Parts: sequence; C-alpha cells; structure tokens
Amino acid sequence: MVHTDNVLRAITDDGAFRVIAADTTATVRGALQAQQVKTRELTRTFADLLTGAVLVRESMAPDNRLQAILQGDNPRARMIADTHPDGATRGLVQLPADVSAMPLGENGLLQIARTLSNGSLHQGVVRVPAGSNSVSAAFMAYMQESEQTVTMIAIGCHMSNGEVAAAGGYMVQLLPEVAEGPLAVMTERLKDFEDIVPLLARGRASPEELLAETLYGMPFTKVGDRPVSFGCRCSPDRLAMSLASLPRADIESLMEEGKTLEIECDYCRKKYDFTQQQLRSLIESN
Ligand SMILES: [Zn+2]
Repeated sequence: MVHTDNVLRAITDDGAFRVIAADTTATVRGALQAQQVKTRELTRTFADLLTGAVLVRESMAPDNRLQAILQGDNPRARMIADTHPDGATRGLVQLPADVSAMPLGENGLLQIARTLSNGSLHQGVVRVPAGSNSVSAAFMAYMQESEQTVTMIAIGCHMSNGEVAAAGGYMVQLLPEVAEGPLAVMTERLKDFEDIVPLLARGRASPEELLAETLYGMPFTKVGDRPVSFGCRCSPDRLAMSLASLPRADIESLMEEGKTLEIECDYCRKKYDFTQQQLRSLIESN
C-alpha cells in the first residue's frame, strides 16, 4: 500500500488549545531520495526541518507557501524545506564537499520565509537555542518570537535499517483565552510526548493518534485535514527563467560545446534538456 501523508488541525472546544499534527513519512522519504543524504544525523536533521516547515505553514500560512532555511554552525552548511498549500513539499541539502555533519548548537540559524496573502514576503530569523542542537527547539524559538504565543513542538524521525520508517510531529499552541489551570495540565501531559520518536517507533504517531494523545479528555473539533506529499514545482519554463537570469557570457559558455544542455533540478533531480536553439533564444530575450 502506498503511504500517504497528511496534516490535521484541531481546536479544543473551550478555545484554549490548538493542535496541529503531521505525518510526513512519505514526504521525507521522497526528499531524502532526491538529496542522497549520507548519514543518520543529517537524515534526522533534514527530516525534522521538512516536518517543522509543514507544521509552521499549517499554523501561520496554510494558504501560502513557506520556506524554512536552516544554517549550521558552519555557515556553508544549509538545508532548505519548501512547502506549498496543496501539501507539495521539497527540500535541498547544501553541504560543502568536505563536510559530512551539520551541528547547529553554537551558531545555527533558522530562517522562515512565507508569502503573505497580498503576495509580499515575510521573513524572520532566529538562532538555534544554544547547546540544543535541535530543530524542534529552533522552530519553537521561531514561533515564540514571531507569534508571541507559547508553542510546544515535538518533531521526530524513526529510522530502521538505515531507512526512514516513520516521520512526523505535532505543535500545541495556547490560544489567548487560556487560563493557568489547563496550561499546567497540558504542560504536564506533554512531558510524556516531548520526544515523539518512541511513538513513531511503535507506529502510534499518526496525526489522529497524536491529536488523541495530546488532547486526551478534552473535547475538540477537527478544523482541517490536508494532504502532504513530496513534490517539486520545477518545469521547463521555470528552469529556462533561471537560466535566462544568468549573465549572457555564462549562457554562452554553456553553449560552447555545441550540444544539447542537460540541466537537473536541484530539488527533485528531474532532468531537462535545452537545445542550442533554445539557449540562443534565451540570450536574445536576455
Ligand atoms: Zn524539481
């Protein structure tokens, strides 16, 4: 059976909490396969970035695109997650050739860029909390600073035999009406699920189950259920547009061999051919 991912949104009937829970297993697998990530550590970091981006988009910009850019202690080490309202999500791992790890706990940065409904771009950047080395902690810091709401985020990826067996996460937000009583109850309860990898490992971390666990005993209403999938928005036209933005001399040097040029999308590895004639017309329209 083909695994399909989704993200659920729910609000407690007393208006105190909002929970967003996502299964990103197939999405993460697709993105990992395209990026050829080498180590377990990098796999986890990349998986968590993709899941976090889906959760934050669903919370702040469900109808808009969101990009999350994670920069390691080494500023040349970067990962990008790019997620769209229809659920199509892709990622990019950019590591220098001599680097095989991406620690975050000293100088790591998380940048979030989202398109607002009027088309303009909103960007914010936070430091990965010192010593945490945690993508979840970075997303929590971002939500705290940009939304000024208390947000608890748990993201995880369970690996088995070097493969991603399950990936996902949840976000619990305290809505403005919250009183101290329920907050204390929730804080206590979430201590059990701060690390969701054990739930993922037991196959008990579907969005439905995460909602049921985090909101146990609290009446709630589901307000959203959307698909999530690995998907790229590249096309011959889009690649042509990025080629056309290169300086004329660069396009000319690409044409030097006189052959059809094959260009690969960095996100999904799909290959596109550009004939000499197409390249020439790019220069002319440049
Ligand atoms: Zn692509």
